[in-house]
Amino acid sequence: MKKIGILGSTGSIGTQTLAIVRNNEDLQVAALAAGSNVAKLEEQIREFSPAVAALWEEKAADELRIRVADTNTKVLCGMEGLLEIAVMEEIEVFVTAVVGMIGIKPTIAAIEAGKTIALANKETLVTAGHLIMPLAAQRKVPIFPVDSEHSAIFQSMHGENKERISKILLTASGGPFRGRSSADLKGVTVEDALNHPNWAMGRKITVDSATLVNKGLEVIEAKWLFGVEPEKIQVVVHPQSIIHSMVEYVDGGIMAQLGMPDMKLPIQYALFYPDRRPMEGKKVDFYTLSSLTFEKPDTETFKGLAMAYKAIELGGSMPTVYNAANERAVALFLDRRLRFLEIYDLIEGAMEQHKTVCNPSVEEILEAEAETYEYINAYGNAHRRD
Ligand code: NDP
Ligand code: MG
Repeated sequence: MKKIGILGSTGSIGTQTLAIVRNNEDLQVAALAAGSNVAKLEEQIREFSPAVAALWEEKAADELRIRVADTNTKVLCGMEGLLEIAVMEEIEVFVTAVVGMIGIKPTIAAIEAGKTIALANKETLVTAGHLIMPLAAQRKVPIFPVDSEHSAIFQSMHGENKERISKILLTASGGPFRGRSSADLKGVTVEDALNHPNWAMGRKITVDSATLVNKGLEVIEAKWLFGVEPEKIQVVVHPQSIIHSMVEYVDGGIMAQLGMPDMKLPIQYALFYPDRRPMEGKKVDFYTLSSLTFEKPDTETFKGLAMAYKAIELGGSMPTVYNAANERAVALFLDRRLRFLEIYDLIEGAMEQHKTVCNPSVEEILEAEAETYEYINAYGNAHRRD
């Protein structure tokens, strides 16, 4: 029996992870954590009977405690609750499926406690990869990627010598606005941005996919996960999302992983690596697949990707600023207080005003985050639309 803990169980990745638990009797849920969704977490507690559950918000946790008083699940709250779950003795694999930098401290705690990490929470690696990767190596803790592109890269490296990699080809769908010009993007709405052509995901990452910031975050994530220089990571737009990424070796040979756009495969692979388990659902049918196409990304219009390379180049705390500015700008956009293209202005502005801190500690990362939030809030207040 493999016991797992899920941080972010009520979200898109979290619920798909639980769908895999349902189909595999040798997986058991020891702990679940979320932000404030009492009803969903109650439902999950009743179905999966975890020993512990946590909610970030205190009031929500209090309500949940009352609602599940008839079960054996202990309810915790806040960062303390997340950290307690991260180090629980019985947990073997810790699935990090929260959105945002809130994942940093619990991920570090889980690695320190020797847990295998199934990592979906890319913001943690983007901002603290320089702390997480050496720590995981030191504690001999594997970090298995859940993000579909990184899982594809990981699968394409299986049995290969890492030293022989010449290039990582990170594929991107291009999002809902592929092919549009800046002029076309001026008036796009929240609904337009949330209308992703291939993937059903959480709201924040879906907007990130439309701005190409998601791909920017993924370049930084790949740099840390696979220890490759950013120059060796090439983003290729592949609108059909069938090839999930590729690795080119020094002899020109390219390994790729293909599949339908369904996150359950990379999640399941991370949970059972190196095993493969049967999976329900549609498979790629090459007789009906008419074509696979490829394009160069339009980084002039979709500036989110170019900004990520800039953040890598400046290093230190700059990827944190890139990420935090985006996180807040996307929240303002979803709140209809910001236009789509202004997301770029905010990231750019935040990066310009920040003085890079080299090799930041967790506290310094969180300070850079707070400073960035302050900058964005000031902008948001000055540009209220109501
Ligand atoms: P969702 O928005 O769907 O879910 C986020 C989860 O995090 C929810 O369970 C939410 O709880 C929880 N959460 C939010 N804030 C806190 C907090 N302060 N403390 C504890 N839990 C919290 O996001 P996704 O599932 O889409 O994405 C999760 C991560 O995975 C992101 O980093 C994303 O980039 C990455 N990812 C997602 C993919 C996808 O297909 N969705 C693909 C590849 C990567 P509540 O419901 O209570 O708010
Ligand atoms: Mg991805």
